[in-house]
Amino acid sequence: WKKEDVEIKEIEARCRDLDCSVPPSKFSDLPLSQRTLQGLQGAGYQIPTDIQRAGIPLSLKGCDVLGAAKTGSGKTLAFLIPVIEALWRQRWTSVDGLGALIISPTRELAYQTFEVLCKIGCKHDLSAGLIIGGKDLKHEQERIRKTNIVVCTPGRLLQHMDETPDFTCNSLQVLVLDEADRILDLGFAATLNAIIENLPEDRQTMLYSATQTRSVQDLARLSLQDPEYVAVHENSR
Ligand code: ADP
Ligand code: MG
Repeated sequence: WKKEDVEIKEIEARCRDLDCSVPPSKFSDLPLSQRTLQGLQGAGYQIPTDIQRAGIPLSLKGCDVLGAAKTGSGKTLAFLIPVIEALWRQRWTSVDGLGALIISPTRELAYQTFEVLCKIGCKHDLSAGLIIGGKDLKHEQERIRKTNIVVCTPGRLLQHMDETPDFTCNSLQVLVLDEADRILDLGFAATLNAIIENLPEDRQTMLYSATQTRSVQDLARLSLQDPEYVAVHENSR
């Protein structure tokens, strides 16, 4: 870490001074680690979409974000980049345990998010794990205790919270509720409430959703603290 300390200090200062009213035109305009910029470049991402332009700077500053943008607008990177950067800036390593939780509505969406995370995070030393069930519970239990960034479905996560010995969310820094409208449509409101009750309150939360329904707003009130609201409409990409 020593040689990265200078870079971290510089990025922290740039995040503090970041003017969120000036949207970045390229990812490289943002105060991001070289590791993340290399990951983005390797995956072929150069120009942020509108929801990324609006959401990422606020999240880099540490704000809670309530984001609304239709399917296909690029919400995944809008939260994955800040998740990785938050842990990197805290010099998070394997021994620090769980740093971020990303909750997805379905196994398929969790898997897709996990794949993007692995791609853009490949230059970092953070570990990522997929906790979606359908596999040997023992194997998942081994992994979830050692993973820095967990991408999961709500039911399976709650099961681990209840049943996995030595699994704790006490060190959690960042919570992401992705496709929140779909999570709620699938009937997971009570499951989410039970999960959130067991998370440290001193954390950053990002809630992204294609639509802003009444129940999404209820969930936002429960999970976010004084959030910035970012919404992108129309065919913006
Ligand atoms: P959403 O979650 O809003 O439905 P995704 O995050 O799944 O959208 O992104 C939709 C598609 O757009 C994906 O194929 C993704 O790779 C692509 N994409 C996202 N951000 C960018 C970007 N900045 N540049 C190019 N393609 C992008
Ligand atoms: Mg999505």
